[in-house]
Amino acid sequence: TLNPNSIEARDVAYHLHSYTNARRHEETGPIVIESGEGMYVTDTDGNRYIEAMAGLWSVAVGFGEKRLADAASRQMQKLNFYHTFTQKSHTPAIELAEKLVAMAPVKMSKAYFTNSGSEANDTMIKLVRYRSNALGQPEKKKIISRIKGYHGVTLASASLTGLPNNHRSFDLPMEGILHTTCPHYWREGHEGESEEEFASRCAADLEAMIQAEGPETIAAFIGEPVMGAGGVIVPPKIYWAKIQAVLKKYDILLVADEVICGFGRTGQMFGCQTYGIEPDIMTVSKALSSSYLPISALLINDRVYQPVADQSSEIGTFGHGYTASGHPVAAAVALENLAIIEERRLVEHAAELAPYFQDALGSLADHPLVGEVRGVGLIGAIELVTDKKAKVAMQPAGAMAAKAFGLIQANGVITRAIGDCLAFCPPLIVEKEHVDTIVDATRKGLDELLTTI
Ligand code: PMP
Repeated sequence: TLNPNSIEARDVAYHLHSYTNARRHEETGPIVIESGEGMYVTDTDGNRYIEAMAGLWSVAVGFGEKRLADAASRQMQKLNFYHTFTQKSHTPAIELAEKLVAMAPVKMSKAYFTNSGSEANDTMIKLVRYRSNALGQPEKKKIISRIKGYHGVTLASASLTGLPNNHRSFDLPMEGILHTTCPHYWREGHEGESEEEFASRCAADLEAMIQAEGPETIAAFIGEPVMGAGGVIVPPKIYWAKIQAVLKKYDILLVADEVICGFGRTGQMFGCQTYGIEPDIMTVSKALSSSYLPISALLINDRVYQPVADQSSEIGTFGHGYTASGHPVAAAVALENLAIIEERRLVEHAAELAPYFQDALGSLADHPLVGEVRGVGLIGAIELVTDKKAKVAMQPAGAMAAKAFGLIQANGVITRAIGDCLAFCPPLIVEKEHVDTIVDATRKGLDELLTTI
């Protein structure tokens, strides 16, 4: 039972938590994180944890970075807020837009600012619809996403998300959003099918969906280069080339959701580079500011921008934008964060450390409860099973990962339970000794779990 005066009890009283069993939470209370430094966060009881998830796939440069606090303070004292509506702007938004367009792996023409990954993807849907209207193709509005893709939680972006928990109880997905095959070879590959054959089948499934719906009705396809919140699903290397060939054939826009992959996660600046993806629209957030403040953006190429610009006087300006879009303090922090990523060569560091990280995670494959280990760069997951051959886990679904997550956290490492998977996505500043601690704590947690099964 909680002390009614403790911070935990107050939190339970006043704070309805995301993705949390509310009744169970009333009994146990949250872990209250009080401070962070580098790879670590500390709770109000003084327990220190390695944040092996970079706080929801976000904090690239590590916690407690003074340069980011200073950048925020300087900007807040100079211009605390101004908007970017109706021909107004401010220097941080202009500089950040310029920086992002210059960094993009393919030629982009404009940045459009939003405040979260969900808002960026929601805005993408509006922009794509607006463009189709501008082109005189009002029937070309459908968007294809993928089963287990994660693109956010607003009504529209949750519709793009391909996970049941984000749909059921909300009467989603909304009309015009479709979900195609998840490129998870280990789960979805057929007996005797090679990875390449599987990738071809994913592309064929996509083409069949386009044909069935009518190619003239499909406006865009969205995907994360590597799926994150669906369980860190790494596609076959050839997958994206095959998908892009189909999209080209039917003149369908490609949207890369770089919210997790962007800014170094896969060992290159963008996940698009790792897989040779040439998107028309990219959405970025999270590591853009290392989540010191909320900010996100869409990067759009001329194929998207020009029709919108041509038509904006005729069909009305793009009637969409948030008060805080491109907030000057968040933009100043993002600029400083990107400068740190470059100065400290964190993307190169991610690439250098990736083999060590992947090998260390890979060493868990021999554990009796581990069905698959997967990953790329500094992102990875293990999928838990009770029967390796049948690839089945304990019922109810997710029970094993939830328990393992708790045991590993008690061993001082924060991971994330996603279905029957445990995900790992450490800050880009991670070093070998942290990797060792993460993997040791995970193995110990899995051993403890094994004794209870
Ligand atoms: N896209 C991806 C790939 C994400 O991982 C997330 C968040 N996990 C989102 C979009 C949504 O971002 P937000 O939580 O900032 O709305």
